[in-house]
Amino acid sequence: MERRKFVKSVGLAAAAACVSPKVFGNDLIQGKSSKIEGVPAPVFPALPFEYNALEPHIDARTMEIHYDKHHRGYHTKFMNAIKESALEGMAISEIFASVSKQPDVVRNNGGGYYNHLFFWKNLGKGSTGPSPELSTAITKEFGSFDKFKDAFGTKAKTQFGSGWAWLYLTKDKKLTVGSTPNQDNPLMDVSQLKGIPLLTIDVWEHAYYLNYQNKRADYVDAFWNVVNWDEVEKRYQQAIA
Ligand code: MN
Repeated sequence: MERRKFVKSVGLAAAAACVSPKVFGNDLIQGKSSKIEGVPAPVFPALPFEYNALEPHIDARTMEIHYDKHHRGYHTKFMNAIKESALEGMAISEIFASVSKQPDVVRNNGGGYYNHLFFWKNLGKGSTGPSPELSTAITKEFGSFDKFKDAFGTKAKTQFGSGWAWLYLTKDKKLTVGSTPNQDNPLMDVSQLKGIPLLTIDVWEHAYYLNYQNKRADYVDAFWNVVNWDEVEKRYQQAIA
């Protein structure tokens, strides 16, 4: 099957398989506007762009392996882990809220499934930057947009070993940056960071090694060229509502 048709059919199947998620906090987490916090679909979700869409900042070969091997692997293992268990049919946000009670296979693969789904959505080209409202909120919290980029970038560059950096909104609606090890994220009860994720970057070596080798900092700096601010904005508006 030609890739475009394949992407479309997978996308439709994923949409059809997505059932209404259960209650957790607010509209965003309930998944009314964003399906990614909803019930995990048994069909592996489509990548929202072509492999080469983020060139030269993220190369096509990296994207292909990252999506089709790494992300697919997490999805398959996670679906197998929750199949015919009490977790089947639960929203991913609900599973994460008590993930400390689950075996590591759920924490690691559930995180890997969700974090990558989230990451793809906040990537894209052609976005000019945050809206005036989000921009004002970022400036208020961090001093300036550049200082925010420095703060987020530093979390990404200094996360020891594999993990993720995040911009997230805490329960008291404070914009905050931080990083999580392995496949943890701010929705997990085991995480030191807790809140609603707005933006993330994957800093596992598999996310950049083909193109950047050991130069994680260069990858993190290039990331700003491919942030889909429309998605960040959408999540921010839902999170503060
Ligand atoms: Mn990854």
